[in-house]
Amino acid sequence: MPKRAPNSADFPIAALLDWYRQNQRELPFRPRKRGGRWEIKPNPYHVLVSEAMAQQTQIATVVPYFERFVEAFPTVDDLAEADEQRVLTLWQGLGYYRRARNLHAAARMIVDGFDGQVPKTAEQLLKLPGVGRYTAGAVASVAHNTPAPIVDGNVARVFARYFLLEEAIDKPATLKQLWQLADELVQASDAPRDFNQGVMELGATVCTPKSTKCLYCPLHDSCAAHAAGRVAELPVKTPKKKPVAVTHTILAIHRNGKYLFEQRPAKGLWSNMWQMPTLEDSDVSAATETIKNQFGLSISEPEPVSSFTHQTTHRTIQFALTRCEVKSGRLHAKRGEWRPLSKLDDLPLAKPQLTAIDLL
Ligand code: SF4
Repeated sequence: MPKRAPNSADFPIAALLDWYRQNQRELPFRPRKRGGRWEIKPNPYHVLVSEAMAQQTQIATVVPYFERFVEAFPTVDDLAEADEQRVLTLWQGLGYYRRARNLHAAARMIVDGFDGQVPKTAEQLLKLPGVGRYTAGAVASVAHNTPAPIVDGNVARVFARYFLLEEAIDKPATLKQLWQLADELVQASDAPRDFNQGVMELGATVCTPKSTKCLYCPLHDSCAAHAAGRVAELPVKTPKKKPVAVTHTILAIHRNGKYLFEQRPAKGLWSNMWQMPTLEDSDVSAATETIKNQFGLSISEPEPVSSFTHQTTHRTIQFALTRCEVKSGRLHAKRGEWRPLSKLDDLPLAKPQLTAIDLL
């Protein structure tokens, strides 16, 4: 097939819609209609929660978190009134906790500024904390059937292959082209909700990064990458910078069957969550003095217990877990508490702390 300029008019919208309606995965937050009857009605609040959880996280991982979260906070008003520590505790394990804080703040804004109704347009949704262009389009289209475009990794892969886009998909010019195509297509479809979900579903289950299942694809008769035998080459991405390697040391400070936990500062990574005191360093020679100054406790020399690695977007963190005993002193820090490891359910703890607790 000769190379052609990307043209949204070539895209078989009807075939995609048919495929999606027959093959969609059943998810607890996804509106679903069968034979003209709603099996799961669109619930804008559920869509907003699921989209916040699905950022940087696989759908299969999201499902149990979503179910627990909406059971605890069934409506946007319940979430708006909730205590932040409870919200973070229910998010524990999903990571990227800023999403939970933003969702909480968005619920408050919806109650205060939008009469408790999740906005219908992408422009209004963009005013909510943590809602970017993708999430605004996803919530507007999935919750309200508004013809708003979306481009995420799945959509970009499908379009890059179908239209044979050879430039890196993270380049501003390519992104602009992708959003333009997504906009033209969602406007041309008479079912924005199913169209957007259909492209994402195709990217997640058929037009996958590896082991692509072109034979089962509703677009395969007119897909340019398939015709050119170039599916595995696309999409092109700019190589990522290598993450920086750093070492942190966790001090498991023990006294009478309990360990010392402190709340992290309100700003920065894992803000307001709880941890065993953690030094952003591999050198523990100053640990006894630091703990004396911060908590008023004299501790024994920290002894190594174990080590493990945690990956964040920009850093590879090697955690050294150490353990020590309190020799004397009374805890004087306001942000510290003694807790047995069996009673931590109400403290939001980030993944590395949960790993350290498992190792103790
Ligand atoms: S034919 Fe293959 S490469 Fe093209 S959109 Fe379908 S799955 Fe993707």
